[in-house]
Amino acid sequence: MKRSRRQFLKVASLSVLGLSTHLATGGIVNAAEQGAQYLPNENGLKAGRWAMVIDTRAFETPEDFDVCVKACHKAHNVPNIPNNQNIKWLWTDTYEHVFPEQGNNHMSESLENRDFFVLCNHCENPPCVRVCPTKATYKKPDGIVAMDYHRCIGCRFCMAGCPYGARSFNFSDPRKHLDMGEVNPEFPTRMLGVVEKCNFCVERLAQGLMPACVEAAEGKIVFGDLNDPESEVRKVLAENFTIRRKPNVGTQPGVYYII
Ligand code: SF4
Ligand code: SF4
Repeated sequence: MKRSRRQFLKVASLSVLGLSTHLATGGIVNAAEQGAQYLPNENGLKAGRWAMVIDTRAFETPEDFDVCVKACHKAHNVPNIPNNQNIKWLWTDTYEHVFPEQGNNHMSESLENRDFFVLCNHCENPPCVRVCPTKATYKKPDGIVAMDYHRCIGCRFCMAGCPYGARSFNFSDPRKHLDMGEVNPEFPTRMLGVVEKCNFCVERLAQGLMPACVEAAEGKIVFGDLNDPESEVRKVLAENFTIRRKPNVGTQPGVYYII
């Protein structure tokens, strides 16, 4: 029987690495999964270095967060698995967990009680890219850390390498947890044994659209080109005090938080 390219890559890589793990099996791989290159159309948005600024002060109610998470997860067919194997692209956590080394015992109640969005930081120096044995995770010239799901062999080195816990592993078939009638046909569904994470909406940028969470946030999240001194992100960064996650690990996150 002929082996698929993905199975071949997995077996080859695991042999080299001397690892034993279960083969990631799964369903049909659709055309979009076979190449993670999204070719921009003539309206596609371009940048030297995409970056995001989240105004955490503006997120006041659970609905403020919910609308963004729903927009993201709907656009990317992220399944809702009601246990600790849930898949997360965009979620919330407390200051203590998001910025553990940047707190103190005398912080304002407002900061202590606030929720903060968490997502892949699209790091300038992404350890997840360095450790991926098949180049399923790679960094684009515009700073987006992208994935080719078809190349992912499920070794989870990238999950071990990411200091932010920004990646999720499909321990079960995600398609079983999706309402197939509601699936976004423009974005691939994933399969059992594959890692996934936020992609900074690379497919939307290629169509000239802002990321889904940015659109849903109605001004609470700003997105743009960090290399362009005239961009909105540069303006808000110049006008506000911002922090990034785990500054000591040297990854240089592309996500900034106004606190
Ligand atoms: S946050 Fe994690 S997954 Fe995202 S680019 Fe950085 S190291 Fe990679
Ligand atoms: S940038 Fe796109 S993929 Fe990333 S959290 Fe926002 S909506 Fe989700």
